Amino acid sequence: MATIARAVTGALRLQGKVAVITGAASGIGEETAKTFVAHGAKVIIADIQDAAGEKLARELGGPDTARFIHCDVSQEEDVAAAVDLSVSAYGGLHVMFNNAGVLVPGCPLEETSMVEFDRSYGVLLKGAVMGVKHAARVMKPMQTGSIITTASVAAHIAGPSMAYTTLKHALLGLTRYAAWELRDFNIRANTISPGAICTPIMKDVPKFFLEQMQASSFFPKMKTSVSHKIAGPDSIANAALFLASDDSAYVSGEDLAVDGSHMLQPGDPL
Ligand code: NAD
Repeated sequence: MATIARAVTGALRLQGKVAVITGAASGIGEETAKTFVAHGAKVIIADIQDAAGEKLARELGGPDTARFIHCDVSQEEDVAAAVDLSVSAYGGLHVMFNNAGVLVPGCPLEETSMVEFDRSYGVLLKGAVMGVKHAARVMKPMQTGSIITTASVAAHIAGPSMAYTTLKHALLGLTRYAAWELRDFNIRANTISPGAICTPIMKDVPKFFLEQMQASSFFPKMKTSVSHKIAGPDSIANAALFLASDDSAYVSGEDLAVDGSHMLQPGDPL
């Protein structure tokens, strides 16, 4: 059986911890699963892509280390089952990474299909809400936990569609509320806001938005500047590793932007 070949220097950051990662069959979630296992964690790979999820679980060492569960995050019984599997298979849940995402067509906004909006809502917001809810159910008795949710620069500024922007903004509120309510249980909640990350979801970014991005004062720099490139998913996996580990023990209710300074582009001249 093929196993991961991820070299780790220094201490293992997640030894003895168990994580559920949604959207783990691809992109950011997949890279995070690899990073977490390399740092000693056991992971539940929760996704709707069965073949890719099963394959990743095998590559990460099989049932002793990583298990796949079919989980549509818009369905509460699926989210509950993924969390319950972490307990039955590995004895608990220390890290919940609400990461599954979709980018469905949705602009111009007056043409937004409410069916498509509901689909986005189910995955991006309701899925994360249920992830927080069921993680809290298991983490509270354990009196420990880190809940991480993948937001976006679109949680702070206009993104590629009304639905995506609106729902990603809401994740910041969900996280701040969870951090506040769960603070006395030693459970932390934080978001990560990725900028442009090279993963399959990028193919769904509308052409007009990409053109606007490329015409902006920020994106031309990406072609020439190391610090302004489109990053790989490892950049987000490393941020998730920090928020999952005890290195961030005093960090809760925060958003960690990993965007190569995308949100700091200058405004119009005075
Ligand atoms: P990706 O398409 O590679 O991964 C998304 C994963 O979510 C896929 O494995 C997919 O199967 C899974 N998924 C979709 N619907 C699901 C559902 N109903 N239930 C369970 N899993 C489901 O893209 P990615 O870039 O890795 O996206 C991960 C997260 O990062 C998303 O929340 C996305 O919005 C966010 N994000 C990505 C970028 C970027 O530039 N790639 C930027 C900002 C935020």
